[in-house]
Amino acid sequence: MFDAILFNKTTFLTSAPSVRESPADEGKEVAFAGRSNAGKSSVINALTGNNKLARTSKTPGRTQLLNFFFLTENRRLVDLPGYGFAKVPVAVKSNWNRNLAGYLQERKSLVGVIILMDIRHPLQKYDLQIICWASKSKMPIHLLLTKSDKLRRGAINNTLLRVEKELKKENLFSNLSLQAFSSVKKSGLSELKQKLKIWLN
Ligand code: GDP
Repeated sequence: MFDAILFNKTTFLTSAPSVRESPADEGKEVAFAGRSNAGKSSVINALTGNNKLARTSKTPGRTQLLNFFFLTENRRLVDLPGYGFAKVPVAVKSNWNRNLAGYLQERKSLVGVIILMDIRHPLQKYDLQIICWASKSKMPIHLLLTKSDKLRRGAINNTLLRVEKELKKENLFSNLSLQAFSSVKKSGLSELKQKLKIWLN
């Protein structure tokens, strides 16, 4: 039996440099992925009401790690390293790529991936790469189009439709859902929580 999920009770569990060093692959976990600066820390803050958690993931030396958060016994959230950093050396990038791909493809307790993209710049190269990796493993994906407060309602809806159309064209729309989100306005929070609860129950 699983306990009720209270996102504001989330605590830091551990950091791991690779899948092999991650906590026991038991229970259920949901991972958050996105380009650096897509707003991942802000989403985790908004979701958990705990600024310290996302700050932990930004501590120098921890940005390339998988950061695990404890939700309830046997349920975890995982903050994956931000990708697409122009300044990172190629060798480090390919190491991240291996880690991310390995994690998405091998982790048995992973029940879904939240992929964050700035609503003004969706579906960039690495976003599509992650969507492809997850999709290949038949992993459910939920896209969060972040910083939606930067656009008007009409432009938000157009972007949602455009992203859906593009993914359908690439045959990447099965097992995938999407929504707009703003950490500033806290809009989209209940939809996100609902998705997480469905995956984690
Ligand atoms: P991360 O690198 O993906 O963890 O991104 P952060 O959460 O640190 O956010 C990157 C930048 O985007 C920061 O300057 C945030 O203040 C800003 N930001 C994050 N979320 C939002 C949002 O919902 N709306 C707006 N307008 N800015 C945001």
